[in-house]
Amino acid sequence: MIIESQELPPIGTNAFALIEPQLKECVIIDAPAEAYDWATRIAEQYGCKIVALILTHGHWDHILDGHRFAAAEIPIYGHQADTEMFEAPARMSSYAIPGLEMLPVPITHWIEGGDIVELLGAKMEIRHVPGHCPGNILVYIESEAATIVGDVIFAGSVGRYDLPGGDFDVLKQSIQTQVYSLPNETTIYPGHGGQTSVIQEKVSNPFVRG
Ligand SMILES: [Zn+2]
Repeated sequence: MIIESQELPPIGTNAFALIEPQLKECVIIDAPAEAYDWATRIAEQYGCKIVALILTHGHWDHILDGHRFAAAEIPIYGHQADTEMFEAPARMSSYAIPGLEMLPVPITHWIEGGDIVELLGAKMEIRHVPGHCPGNILVYIESEAATIVGDVIFAGSVGRYDLPGGDFDVLKQSIQTQVYSLPNETTIYPGHGGQTSVIQEKVSNPFVRG
């Protein structure tokens, strides 16, 4: 499996592409602005079909391009606790950039903690990691020693907990029980900034230690 990432507008949110060239399939995780264009370029480059879009959570900057994936009839995965933001993202507009158009994103597959999603011939474990927002999930791919976590944790930082539905104690609990329990060598791909690892954050994250 190849993992590509791209920081996208308007506020530097990462989108990810998981690519399985032998199966000619890829999965996209998160949909900032221009994610659909980036994803279709990746799909073309590897000769792959986009078989799913997984949304780590419902914040506007992670779902802006979601409606374009929906228009292309690509299955979209998300957690039910963020339903309101998927269905009416404009409600978050006071936290976004004025004048930005935010269209609803129809979730076709509801996922929750403990689910194993089989895509690209791999088992992807879903873990529920609320605290930054109620519906944040992470995707853990054991075969790749990789996890895509949304905004729960960043390299040397943690997600904001001052937005609606955020709570530091819940966030801390999510990180300690759901992120730090992954194998130490697991690479963490956050929704903003560069990658890190479970052990790196356990020993040096200034907000939540393992
Ligand atoms: Zn967020």
